[in-house]
Parts: sequence; C-alpha cells; structure tokens
Amino acid sequence: MPDAAERDLGSRGDALQEHFERAPLATLQIDGESLFTLYANRAALDLAGLEPREILGRRLDESLPGLVGEHLLPLLIEVGKTGAPLHRAEVGFTNGQGNSRCWCASAWRTTEKREGTCRLLLQLTDISEDVEQRQELTAMARQMRQINEELVLSALREEELTQRAEAANDAKSAFLATMSHELRTPLTAIIGYEELLSDGITGPVTPEQRTQLHRIRDSAMHLLALIEQILTLSRLATEHEKAQSERMTLESLVQATSVLIAPLAAEKRLGFRTELPQNDVVFESDPLKVKQILINLLANAVRFTDQGEVTLRARVEGKDLVIEVHDTGIGIAGEHLDQIFEPFYQVEQKATRRVGGSGLGLSVSRRLARLLGGDVTVASIAGHGSDFTLRIPTRGRLDESGV
Ligand code: ADP
Repeated sequence: MPDAAERDLGSRGDALQEHFERAPLATLQIDGESLFTLYANRAALDLAGLEPREILGRRLDESLPGLVGEHLLPLLIEVGKTGAPLHRAEVGFTNGQGNSRCWCASAWRTTEKREGTCRLLLQLTDISEDVEQRQELTAMARQMRQINEELVLSALREEELTQRAEAANDAKSAFLATMSHELRTPLTAIIGYEELLSDGITGPVTPEQRTQLHRIRDSAMHLLALIEQILTLSRLATEHEKAQSERMTLESLVQATSVLIAPLAAEKRLGFRTELPQNDVVFESDPLKVKQILINLLANAVRFTDQGEVTLRARVEGKDLVIEVHDTGIGIAGEHLDQIFEPFYQVEQKATRRVGGSGLGLSVSRRLARLLGGDVTVASIAGHGSDFTLRIPTRGRLDESGV
C-alpha cells in the first residue's frame, strides 16, 4: 500500500501531467538515447499534425522526417550528450502540403532516476508568420536602401544638371551682353547719322527723304528698345538684375514718363491725363526700373487704343504706392489675361504687328515689379479698354509732403 507521501507525490505527478497536456505550448518528452518520443501533449500533436500512434514510441526522425533529419536531430543529440540546453533555435522545413514552416525549438535534459539514461524535454513554437514578417521587413529595408541610394544618385544627377544649366545660362547672358553691345554700337551710329541727315548738316533734305529718314529712325529706336528688353529679361532670369533704392517723388517720376508718352498720344489724337494725390508723394524705390515699367504700360495703352484716352492715376494705399494705367482701347479677352505676362506672348499677332510689339514689355514689367517687392496686374474686357495696375512698396519710409 502506498503511504501518504507517495500518494501525495502521485497526485502531484498527475496534476503536472494534466498541466502539460493542456499547456498551449507544444511539449514533447524524448528519450535522450533512442530519440523515441515518450510523450507529446495535445498542442504538440496539433502542431505536428499527427495522431498519438504516429509519434509515441517512435524515433523522432521517423515521425517528423524532414525536419528532424535535417535540423533538429543533431541539436537534440548534442543536448543529450553535453547537457547544454538548446535555446530558441529556429528550424525550417516544408510540411506535407508543401508549405514552408519555421519552428522555434528549446530543449533541455531532465534528470532521471536510472543512471546512464536521460530524457529531454522539447518545446516547439510555430514562428512561421513572424519569420515571414521579418523577411518582408528585411526585403522592405533592402528596398528602402535601394530607393535611398537611387534618390541620392538622382539628387547628384540633378545637381550636376543644375550646374550645367547655370553654366549654360551664364554663357547665354554673357553672349547676350556681348551681342547687345555689338548691336547697340552700330545702331547708335545709324541714329546719329540719321540725325545729321535730318538736320540738313550734310546738305538739303527733300520732304520725301525726310519721311524715309523718320522711318529709319523709328526702326532703329524700336530695335534699340527690343535689345534693352531682351537684356533686362536675361538679367532678371539669371538674377543678375539688382534693385537700387533711391528717394524720389511721384511727381518727378510721372513728369519723366509723361514727356515721352504725351507726344505718342498726341500723334494718335488721344487724350492723356494724369490724376495724382494733392500732396506729392515721396517714396523709396529704384527710379530707373519704376520708370521702365510705367513707360511699358503707358506705351502699350497708347499703342492698343485708337480712340478716347489714356489716364495715369496714382494713390497711396497703406504702405504701397499704386499706379493705374487706364485706356479706352481694344481690351483683352479673359482667356489671355494670365498669358500676356509670359515672354513673347501676344494676343493678336496681326494687331500687335500692326502696332509694332515684341511681346516682352509686360513680362519684363512684371518681373521688375516683383524684384521691387510689388507686382503688375491687369483687369480688362475685350472691346472696353484695359486697366494695368503697378503696386510697389514704398519701403515703409513713405511720407506725404510738399517736397
Ligand atoms: P508687346 O510688345 O507685344 O506689346 P507686351 O508684353 O507689352 O508685348 O504685351 C503683350 C500683349 O498683351 C500685347 O501683344 C497685347 O496683345 C496685349 N496688351 C498689352 N497691353 C495692352 C493694352 N493696354 N490693351 C490691349 N492689349 C494689350
């Protein structure tokens, strides 16, 4: 009859057996010598996909041939021999359905009553999904590295292209500067000789000859203006154009532009009016650039108007000086309003050619205005005239006085 202590041990053994049986972790007991499976809990049978008779009392490599033969068996033999536990070894194999699986195996030697024999406890977990995720992450990291390398390469390529483009741009500017000088010199000579002839210094001039001489002068002046516009545009494009800051008065600015525009308007029998604030406005900006913008806007207003008048209105709005150029001319249809500020864009090629344009005036004007911290905008209706507005900051040092 077993005494109380033995019964107690027996019932503890049963409880332990019960515990192993229900444990979610696949657990097997293996004979360290024969590698026969002595015990496999429910989780182990489920994991291996085997019935108890297919695994119990059989060598582990018979029940799980591929896996054990290739990976697990040598490790378990080592544990049995040395007693050094196996800690979370990853063993991969392909199951009966041809799917790749990966198990994580831990094993250690348990002490036995009989000498010379040992038993091993083997615990297995299916980590196939973790491994798959890890492989995906590794592949993603590899891809990211590749993308990064490509990005670095394309950034280098872009930098090289930018440098080449900048060099080409500089070469273009240098070419334009040289060319414009080469063109300007003979043009100035042509204008000079035309003046000598017109003034009758070289001999009497017939009315017919005078008309031809005027045509020569007009064409030469047009060419000169075109060269100036191209030069300014190229300097603006390469950011070589710098803005100066000088103190000036609105009245002197308007005066300097009016003397050039009034005769053009008079020639076409157009009215030309200026409406300025009562007190003159003193402001700081780049006088040459503001004048160039105003001349472009006013000359356009005269060129594209056949009847009525051109009006220049100026006012101060907060810290801005606002100058409007209004005309009663042909106007511009809505779909062209944005594009007229693009270089060489002309609404009506025929009409523009009739009045002799280059398509550069507005793009130069807007870029100059932006360089000064302002802008040029337009409001217009085809057939009903146009309003071009130049707005420039007065650099915060604006005052209205009687200068
Ligand atoms: P262009 O030398 O041809 O006048 P601009 O850049 O100054 O070049 O103007 C571009 C185009 O915008 C002109 O060709 C014309 O079609 C239109 N435009 C400019 N100003 C006016 C205006 N005041 N009235 C009508 N159309 C205008």
